[in-house]
Amino acid sequence: MASLIKTAAVAVAMRKCPFLSNEVLSFALKSRSLSMFAKKCPVMSKLMTQGVVTLPATYDLKGENEAVPEEELKLPTLTKLEAPTQKNEAQPLPPKYDSILNDNIEAKKRDSTYRTFQVLSRTAEKKPYAMARTTPLQLEDEDVSVWCSNDYLGMSSHPKVTGAVIDTINRHGVGAGGTRSIGGTSHYHVELEDTLADLHGKDSALLFSSCYVANDTTLQTLGRVLNAEIYSDQGNHASMIAGINNSRMPKFVFRHNDLDHLEELLVKGDPDRMKIVAFESVYSMTGTIAPIEELCDLAHKYNALTFVDEVHAVGLYGYHGAGLAEERGMAHKIDIVSGTLGKAYGLVGGYIASTGPLIDVVRSLGSGLIFTTSIPPSTAAGAVTSINILAQQEGRELRLRHRAAYNILRVKLLKAGFPVLDCPSHIVPLHIGDALKATLCMDTLLEKHKLYVQAINYPTVPRGRELLRFVATPYHTPRMMDYLISALDDVWSNLDLPKCENFSLKN
Ligand code: PLP
Repeated sequence: MASLIKTAAVAVAMRKCPFLSNEVLSFALKSRSLSMFAKKCPVMSKLMTQGVVTLPATYDLKGENEAVPEEELKLPTLTKLEAPTQKNEAQPLPPKYDSILNDNIEAKKRDSTYRTFQVLSRTAEKKPYAMARTTPLQLEDEDVSVWCSNDYLGMSSHPKVTGAVIDTINRHGVGAGGTRSIGGTSHYHVELEDTLADLHGKDSALLFSSCYVANDTTLQTLGRVLNAEIYSDQGNHASMIAGINNSRMPKFVFRHNDLDHLEELLVKGDPDRMKIVAFESVYSMTGTIAPIEELCDLAHKYNALTFVDEVHAVGLYGYHGAGLAEERGMAHKIDIVSGTLGKAYGLVGGYIASTGPLIDVVRSLGSGLIFTTSIPPSTAAGAVTSINILAQQEGRELRLRHRAAYNILRVKLLKAGFPVLDCPSHIVPLHIGDALKATLCMDTLLEKHKLYVQAINYPTVPRGRELLRFVATPYHTPRMMDYLISALDDVWSNLDLPKCENFSLKN
């Protein structure tokens, strides 16, 4: 009886505790780990110190295998929760706010840069196809071939990658359960960081929830810690621009891939100040490639660190798929490399790799790392599998097939007279130069020809540089390309778009 009273007292006290839910209480009572929970709970600890609550001796964990007296397993009656009587209905914002928001949307619609998301479910078993709903009214799913996916090598549905993800989910669940420093670091995270450091030949690597976050966090943290001037290529991705702006350090923008302009700016910089030169190896929309070696040499001549985004190159270039710097034998000249797990590797997440102290500083001070839930263990396990596949022979073969596919597509488009931007990478951009026509091209290709390629409009590209960005994977066949070209012919003549034998637009 005495023990029953004690249990009830504990239960009542625990129900008052804001940190312990009824489920936890019930679990704790059943599993006999009540004392453990109680000691960790501030309210309970206080009550215990004051002697208001004493734990029954049988709850001491030492006696794991002891039988629990039947009466102690009985749960107190928990308060029944009433369903709310009022329906939680969406409330409009005050008219003043609504009118500003609507004006902004109308402005986007007027200049044809209003974004709609194409709903499209890529098919794992039939690459590169997807199930798409072409118009809101036509609700049945249709097979559409996809020409703009960043799942460049189809790794998102590679059976070994999906197998690793499923296996890890079965063993560890779907979520990381915490931030990196509060319970969200599993051995999969550690293994992935070691794998990434090895891949890039660096001391250490650090994972982020995306490369947007990796770029933003790293540049803002380093900029501030080093009190550095930051030199940024004009074509840099929004994530790098955000990081540079968030650092609130002096920023100098050099013309795209223009070494002379960069030097002009570096010469004028403060000689006593630290410097960071930030650029991409492959530019995602125009497909241009940076002169990595020359940019790194120039930066180092002025004692600047180099920060290179290899997001559109990791997995795709280099013997081990480490990126363009590996392919050119220049990886050692990059001080900080950033990459994504969300494109060629087929998952989600971003990272940086660099020296031990640099990674330690970003790890310790970067708020984009500290204050967010870490990527799921299953994602980390899938990424290790994907990176390892692409670092080996299978990866090299996929890269060769990929290279063949995008080169064939480029040649076919050029031969048919389409205005393909001149660029040496795997990205095949087709110039349109008009936001409305780019959107109409996309819509007609999808609705009439069952081909999906996304129109790229401002602000992703400058106004007047609107384009269709084609990506061919190892799974796009020459036959599919011929069909694409006949569809483009149809769209081009309907929209009165010019073909040009010798198209050239300075990239
Ligand atoms: N850097 C570049 C050049 C990108 O194109 C992108 C994404 O599209 C990112 C960074 C961000 O990568 P993530 O998709 O992992 O956030």
